[in-house]
Amino acid sequence: MATKTLSGKIGVTTENIFPVIKQFLYSDHEIFLRELVANAVDATRKLQALASSGDFKAELGELKVTIELDEDQKVLRISDRGIGMTEDEVDRYINQIAFSSAGEFLEKYKDQMGSIIGHFGLGFYSAFMVSKKVTIDSLSWQEGAKPVFWSCDGSPEFTMEEGTRTDRGTTVTLYLDDDSTEFASKGRISQLLGKYCKFMPLPVVFGKKTEWKDGKSVETDEDKVINDIEPIWTKTPSELKDEDYLKFYRALYPMEEDPMFWIHLNVDYPFTLTGVLYFPKIKERMAIDKNKIQLYCNQMFVTDHVDNIVPDFLTLLHGVIDSPDIPLNVSRSYLQSDANVEKISTYITKKVADRLEEIFKEQREQYEQKWDNIKLFIEYGMLTDEKFCERALGFALLKNTDGKYFSLPDYRTAIEPVQTDKDQNVVYLYATKPVEQYSWIEGAKNQGYDVLLMDCELDSHFVGLLESKVEKTRFARVDSDSVDNLIPKEDKVKPQMSDEDKKTLEDLFKAVLPEGNDYLVEAQNLGETAAPVLITQSEFMRRYREMSVLSGGMNYYGSLPEAYNILVNMENPLIAKIWGGKKEAGETAPADFAKENELLRQVVDLALLGNGMLKGKALADFISRSQKLLQ
Ligand code: ADP
Repeated sequence: MATKTLSGKIGVTTENIFPVIKQFLYSDHEIFLRELVANAVDATRKLQALASSGDFKAELGELKVTIELDEDQKVLRISDRGIGMTEDEVDRYINQIAFSSAGEFLEKYKDQMGSIIGHFGLGFYSAFMVSKKVTIDSLSWQEGAKPVFWSCDGSPEFTMEEGTRTDRGTTVTLYLDDDSTEFASKGRISQLLGKYCKFMPLPVVFGKKTEWKDGKSVETDEDKVINDIEPIWTKTPSELKDEDYLKFYRALYPMEEDPMFWIHLNVDYPFTLTGVLYFPKIKERMAIDKNKIQLYCNQMFVTDHVDNIVPDFLTLLHGVIDSPDIPLNVSRSYLQSDANVEKISTYITKKVADRLEEIFKEQREQYEQKWDNIKLFIEYGMLTDEKFCERALGFALLKNTDGKYFSLPDYRTAIEPVQTDKDQNVVYLYATKPVEQYSWIEGAKNQGYDVLLMDCELDSHFVGLLESKVEKTRFARVDSDSVDNLIPKEDKVKPQMSDEDKKTLEDLFKAVLPEGNDYLVEAQNLGETAAPVLITQSEFMRRYREMSVLSGGMNYYGSLPEAYNILVNMENPLIAKIWGGKKEAGETAPADFAKENELLRQVVDLALLGNGMLKGKALADFISRSQKLLQ
C-alpha cells in the first residue's frame, strides 16, 4: 500500500525563519557539516546500543559515515548506516521538534546572538544555512519499516512521501545555495572535516585513498577515512607510552617544539571529563598563543576558545578537553557561573598542581632542568589563582645567580642565618640583569650573601606576592642600597652634619649629576675602603614603576621621573678630600665649586659608569678627563 504524499507547514513560529537564521549565524555557517556528521554518528551509536541490548538482531555490517561531494552539481551528501527514521519519526523529529526548537532558540536569543558561545549547534536545521533545498532519504532499522523521502526547499513548506531506499540508514542531501558555493569544493570540505570531525568515534569517509602509479596519483578502491576514532584521551593512561603522547601532540601542533610534560585527565564523577593537557615550552608571556586547548564533546570538536571554562593561566597549556557536561548553548557570562564549569575548572587546576608536585618530588633533576620554561606559567598561575598559589608554594623554585635551584622552604633555611635583618625579616636579595648588576652581585656575595636571579617579566609582581604570602620576608634588589644597608644588622651611626652642610653636599652633587632625574643625596659612613659614591634606586619606587609599565598604563608611579639615591661615603679619602676642599673654598657657591672640581666629577662619573648611566657626551668627557688625570 502506497502512502500518499504528505505536505505541510513546518512548525516554526516565525514565518520565513530561514533568511533570519542565515543572517544571524553568518560567521558560523561552516558548522552545518559537524552537526550533520554528529547526527549520523549518533544514529549509528543508537543502533549499536540496540544491537548490544539484543533489540536489533540483524547484521550491523560496516558502520561508517560517508561524505560525498559533486562539485559540478554543488550537491553534498552525508550518509549513515544508523537507525534511520520512519515517516512518523521524520514528522516528529524533523518537522515538529527540530524546526520548532530552532525557532524557539532564535526567539530566545535574537538579541544576544553575538554572545552565544562560538559554535553553537543548531542540529539538523543548520543545513539550511548553506542550502536552497535539503532532502532526507531514510529507512528505519525496524522490521517492516517503509523508506521515507522528505524534501524542503528552504521555505517552511516541506513534502514527505514514500522513498525508494533499500538499505538501513539515512542520507541527507544538500543542494548548496548560490551564496554557499565555497562548500562545493573538496578542499574546503576536507578542511572542515579536519577541523570538526578529526576525532569522531566512527569512521568518517570522504573519497578514496590515492596511490602513485606511473608517476601520478590515482584513486584506489579503498575508502579514505579522515578521522582517528580512538584518540589517546579515550584510552587508559596505563596503555600509553610517552611516545604516544608526543605523537599526538605533534599531530595537533605540527609547528611546535615538543612539550615538557603532560597530564591525562580522566574523571566520571561528579561530571564526565577526559583529556590530555600539555605544558609547552614558555619563554615569554607575550609570545604565547592562548587558543591552543581544544574543547570536544564526545569526540566532536566544539571550540578552541576555552577562556571561560578553564582559569586564565591554564589557557597557556595546550591539548584537548572532552566533556559532555560543559553547556554549549548558553552565553559566555552564564558559562562562568555554571556550577559544572566551576567544578571542572577546579578539578583541572587541582590536577595540574598534583602533576607538578609529583614531578617536583619524584623527578627533581628534570624538574629543575625544565624550570626556566615553566616558571612563567607557574608564576602566572600563582598570581592569578588563589588555590593554585597555595599549592604552588610547595613546588615553586627560586634560582640564584649561580644557576642553582631551591624550593622556597629550602632557600629560606639556607639564607636565614646570614640574611636576617635587625627586625627579624629574612631579606631575599635578587638581581634582574646579572651583567649590568655584576659589581653589585659580587659585592653581596663577598659579604656572604646569596643573590637570586629574577629576570622574568612577571617577577616584580611575583616578588610582591611572596612577600605577602611568606611572613617576615622582604625582597631587595642588590643595587637598591649599599651592601651594608641591604640587610641592616644594627642601626648605623650616620655622619653628624649641620643642615647647612647637608644642603651644600646636595648642591655639590646635583651640579654634576645628569639632568632629568630626581636625586636624594645622603651622607653615609660606609668605611674607608668602600666606594666614594653609590647610586641606588629605591626598591619600592622601582617596583611600582616596573609594575605600572607591565600593566600597560602610565599611572601615578609610571609618570614620575626616575628617582635615585646618591650615597656619599664620607669616610672615603677621596670624598674627604673633596669635602675639605669645599670647606677651604669658603663662600664659593657649591655649583661653581663643583663644576671646577675634576675629582668630584670623576668620582660621580665612575659611579654613573657602574650603573650604566654614563652616556654620550658625558662618557666622552669622562674618557678625556681620565686620560688627562693619568698623564
Ligand atoms: P538533535 O540532534 O540535537 O536532537 P537535530 O535537529 O540535529 O537535533 O535532530 C533532530 C532529531 O532528528 C534527532 O534527535 C534524531 O532523532 C533525528 N535525526 C537527525 N538526523 C538523523 C539521522 N542521520 N539518522 C537518524 N535520525 C536522525
